[in-house]
Amino acid sequence: MAMPVDSTAQEFVRLKFCPDCGYRLEGLATDGRCPECGAQYTSQDIVLYGWKERVDKVSMIFGLGTSVCGAVGLIIGGVIIMMAPGSDQIGWLIVIIGIIVLGTTIWRWYRINEAIGESAGPWQLRLVPRGYALRYGPGTAKLTDWGPKMTVRFESSIDGFCAIHIAHELNVASWKLSLSAVPVEKARIFVQADLENLKPVIERVAMWLGSRARRPNYRQIVIQSKLEHFGAK
Ligand SMILES: [Zn+2]
Repeated sequence: MAMPVDSTAQEFVRLKFCPDCGYRLEGLATDGRCPECGAQYTSQDIVLYGWKERVDKVSMIFGLGTSVCGAVGLIIGGVIIMMAPGSDQIGWLIVIIGIIVLGTTIWRWYRINEAIGESAGPWQLRLVPRGYALRYGPGTAKLTDWGPKMTVRFESSIDGFCAIHIAHELNVASWKLSLSAVPVEKARIFVQADLENLKPVIERVAMWLGSRARRPNYRQIVIQSKLEHFGAK
């Protein structure tokens, strides 16, 4: 077999340990089954190890508190308008908008609490053609399929670390801004790697996402400009 041109990058992507049981795979075929546990692996699989970020509770609570204040303000304002002499339907409309804002805020609170409930620590992130999975602790990981609305974002966040965000984009554009923060938090992981090593990962993930979109589309993978300087640190 011919040696790959960029051997450093190829070496970074190649599986060194069985993602399920941790058995050393070095020296074995790039595609096959783990001799220890029988798990199937392929040369296309990417398994990264890192740390899941703790959810920033203070900023979350501040954001939710602002939403609650806005919703309550709308409801009170709507009621005051309704009580005013000769008022139209506008008071009702404002009250309904306030109730919707309050409802979505409560739903976000529920989702954020779910994310906080997961313990921070060493995590495994699997990026394979069939989907992605996060795993904490030993055992197998259940893959989530790459949807056509999937976004993967690579970003340098702390010195020496790259943050990878995976999120489902919501269909309703106006909701995206307020609701996308929760699934992003749930699938955010820090991996110790430099830009050169991450290039083959980014290229492969872009390829998988592109092949699953309705038309080939590489916009779904966003590499923040900050990452340009990542390798220079
Ligand atoms: Zn194994």
